[in-house]
Amino acid sequence: MDKIFKGVLEFQQEDFETHRELFSQLGREQKPHTLFIGCSDSRVVPTLITKTDPGELFLVRNVANIVPPFGSAARDGGTTAAIEYAVQALDVDTIVVCGHSNCGGCAAMNMDPAELDLLPHTREWLKISAEVPERVTQKLRSNDPAEREWLTEQLNIVVQMRNLLTFPYVKEKVVAGTLNILGWYYIIETGEVLNFNDSTGHFELVT
Ligand SMILES: [Zn+2]
Repeated sequence: MDKIFKGVLEFQQEDFETHRELFSQLGREQKPHTLFIGCSDSRVVPTLITKTDPGELFLVRNVANIVPPFGSAARDGGTTAAIEYAVQALDVDTIVVCGHSNCGGCAAMNMDPAELDLLPHTREWLKISAEVPERVTQKLRSNDPAEREWLTEQLNIVVQMRNLLTFPYVKEKVVAGTLNILGWYYIIETGEVLNFNDSTGHFELVT
């Protein structure tokens, strides 16, 4: 715990001083250009991998970067409210759904529900993406667990991109060309980001 208090002091003495003018401008309003929907995983640091400053990314993070379909507020008001606010109030022009390698939430999607008895809320939450493991099983070309792992993580991103389109105002802006939805797959051990190509249906390395 001492580490995070020490970090606060170091932030104030070093980073804040470096960005003093920026923080002063941001003090009264934010105009983020991007809604970034990522996993809660500690190894995924959105501002680090996009080299963005405070004020640029509006963040939503949850287990396995899931987007509950529109109207499911009772299930997760937090994520759906953040999407609504980012699109309707802040008028972001980009939404990134960012999944990642070695995702514990995605691994849990492939587990027997009994294995998640100690994690009842996680088990309930992952049900939103129940179609993902089913579709992965149909798509698998081998018994290689690594193939199941990355296929689950990548298909999960595509499903959340589609769920975003169930929000009427998101769909409207995408059709009008004022909002872009991107699907990213971040590989922790290499630092690489793969971007989903809608026309090929494949994730391609951002170069
Ligand atoms: Zn994850």
